[in-house]
Amino acid sequence: MRIYKEFFFEAAHFLPSAPPGHPNARVHGHSFRARITVDGQPDEDTGIIIHFGELEAAVQDAKDALDHRMLNDIEGLSAPTLERIAMWLWDRLHNRLPGLVEVVVARDSCHEGCVYHGPPMRLAAE
Ligand SMILES: [Zn+2]
Repeated sequence: MRIYKEFFFEAAHFLPSAPPGHPNARVHGHSFRARITVDGQPDEDTGIIIHFGELEAAVQDAKDALDHRMLNDIEGLSAPTLERIAMWLWDRLHNRLPGLVEVVVARDSCHEGCVYHGPPMRLAAE
């Protein structure tokens, strides 16, 4: 079973890899949507996988780090594509949310998004 929490953030960025003159090479903004999904089994007594308050607190910290920011200035986001933002969120949240299985980052106004299930190589110890 999985539960998720969505959040929205507004941020500016540019893509250093875009060719000169391309709109993406210039600073511009998006309304982003992110969805953080945690997998688990509900506790027999409480019926809860993880308290939504706990999930929300983790998500709020990530949102605060992204919302109304210049994404390129954030450590690890010098090339802030949807893919990199998803990886950044995963890196930031996976220790705090052990059941983390999916991070979605989308620009709904562009009908574009990225779904990330974590790095392909997992350590055997995990
Ligand atoms: Zn953009």
